[in-house]
Amino acid sequence: PSFDNFKLNNQLLNAVKEMGYEKPSPIQEKAIPLALAGHDILGIAQTGTGKTAAYVLPLLFKVKYAQGHHPRALIMAPTRELVMQIEEAIKEFGKYTDLRYVCLYGGLGPKPQIEKLQEGVDIIIATPGRFSDLYQKGEIYTRDIKTMVLDEADKMLDMGFLPQIKAILEVIPVKRQNLLFSATFSQRVENLSYDFLEFPERVEV
Ligand code: AMP
Repeated sequence: PSFDNFKLNNQLLNAVKEMGYEKPSPIQEKAIPLALAGHDILGIAQTGTGKTAAYVLPLLFKVKYAQGHHPRALIMAPTRELVMQIEEAIKEFGKYTDLRYVCLYGGLGPKPQIEKLQEGVDIIIATPGRFSDLYQKGEIYTRDIKTMVLDEADKMLDMGFLPQIKAILEVIPVKRQNLLFSATFSQRVENLSYDFLEFPERVEV
């Protein structure tokens, strides 16, 4: 297996090489072609498997070629720490693109986040709480979002974010690609995937 076999572009492939990745991990091998083909994905994979790159690379590729000035991808994660790790991956893999992104999380004032939203972003990485706050304040334009990711979905459910996630799904266009990653598969994760995913491909490592 090789990253060159994926239908990504040179900007992304060069960034992957510079990170020293020699070959795709099993979750990347399975998920990247399916995500690039536009499928919804239910990914059961723990941290350390390379799950972040498995969705970030197809997402960056898709956002790059999608039209528009407003946010086109939304990644939700349970904690500020995970949001920041995802931002780091987007920064590294996106270094040869001009994609703009913002992290929305609590624990600090929203002003810098609002300013960044107003300057314009392509990708939002957010915890459900802060996303909901800023959406209710009218600071987030959601109508161009075409890709949505729920990372560590089991942890989001454990933390009680289900009502917020459901409310957010109400304000995102119905026609979109959805990717759900969870370290574990439980009845609650299954219920969430039933609400969130359409004819998903299940990938597991
Ligand atoms: P993750 O499971 O996404 O949290 O990734 C765990 C770690 O594995 C991160 O430090 C990644 O940079 C690294 N990683 C992900 N995919 C690969 C790969 N194909 N080759 C080498 N390292 C990788």
